[in-house]
Amino acid sequence: MDFSAGPLPERRVDIDLAAIRHNVRHIADIASPARVMAVVKADGYGHGAVPVAKAALEAGATWLGVAHISEAVELRRAGIDAPVLAWLHTESSDFAAAIELGVDLGVSGWELAHVVAEARRLERPARVHLKIDTGLGRNGCPPEKWESLLGQTLQHQEEGLLRVVGVFSHLAVADEPHRAENDEQIQRFRDAVAVAEDAGVDLEVRHLANTPGTLSRPDAHFDLVRIGLGLYGLSPFEGQSSIELGLRPAMSFRTTVANCKEVPAGHGVSYGFAYRTEKRTTLGLIPVGYGDGIPRIAVGAPVTIDGRIYPVVGRIAMDQFVVDFEATGLVDTEESPLGHEVVIFGDGNGTPTADDWARASGSINYEVVTRISPRVTRRYVDSEATS
Ligand SMILES: *Cc1c(COP(=O)(O)O)cnc(C)c1O
Repeated sequence: MDFSAGPLPERRVDIDLAAIRHNVRHIADIASPARVMAVVKADGYGHGAVPVAKAALEAGATWLGVAHISEAVELRRAGIDAPVLAWLHTESSDFAAAIELGVDLGVSGWELAHVVAEARRLERPARVHLKIDTGLGRNGCPPEKWESLLGQTLQHQEEGLLRVVGVFSHLAVADEPHRAENDEQIQRFRDAVAVAEDAGVDLEVRHLANTPGTLSRPDAHFDLVRIGLGLYGLSPFEGQSSIELGLRPAMSFRTTVANCKEVPAGHGVSYGFAYRTEKRTTLGLIPVGYGDGIPRIAVGAPVTIDGRIYPVVGRIAMDQFVVDFEATGLVDTEESPLGHEVVIFGDGNGTPTADDWARASGSINYEVVTRISPRVTRRYVDSEATS
């Protein structure tokens, strides 16, 4: 992290905390009266878990969500005391730390014994959200075991070893809102909640929707929506941009042109000579590669330099890739672009987007931002700061 105003980091992602706050407020309006859990797993999808969590809470999120207990511990160590839920455990997860730090635990089955053992040892009740598998086929209790899980859990609640705070599940195809499986999952979730409440569980929160579910299915909102991608201003829908959804991408990735030189027609570019220049031209060297989290497969992805778009040519290497300044016939390189700013992706206002890189790499915007490596300096900016 770098808050200083010193020389520009050579490779930098700027994260606009004002964009995060805007996105939270926008989604909170859509979800209301359901509340917003800001999902900051995987270091806040590469944006930095702690600064994003703080910005999201400032803007009205009331819960935080992470996959791992260790990620929740990081939030607590940073002084964040909002409710936090962690939902993906192994037998080596530190359930004791979670209980001691008041971190809520997702439980699908086998975890219950571990959680209860630690609660007994610490003489402190765990806070538990039971997860029902409504069809996704990953974590979650199979419906036929739900009553038995509820029975065991309620028994432990009576012993004072835990408190059941929530019931939750996760959608599989919410990015395709019209698929019938969404209706099936919502119905199965309703059924599981009803069974839990009939069994005598007093639930604080029922939660099912991720970002696409929240934006497209009001009937999936329940008490709480778990927002990851939307928090970062990205669209979960094929064919619908951030701007169309009223979201602002928070991350922009920049560097500077590291070398610039004229080469003759037919000159090879990068490993394997997968690209050769068509005519005498100027090549620009961009000093980021797969070691910085750029997908190696994303040949043809756009970058902007001096307001113009250039596609990546030749293979992307660990540390660098190349653009051909004159292949598109656009540039007069009288003035050398050496040292000029390169925007790899940004908010889409005159910049490429994470969606462009997702398309070029056969992936999704989630992966593009999350995989930016620690070699790239994160900087936090606030486009709404007044001073
Ligand atoms: C990652 C995750 C989310 C957030 O999903 P988005 O589509 O990024 O909003 C919500 N719930 C669970 C269980 C998750 O693992």
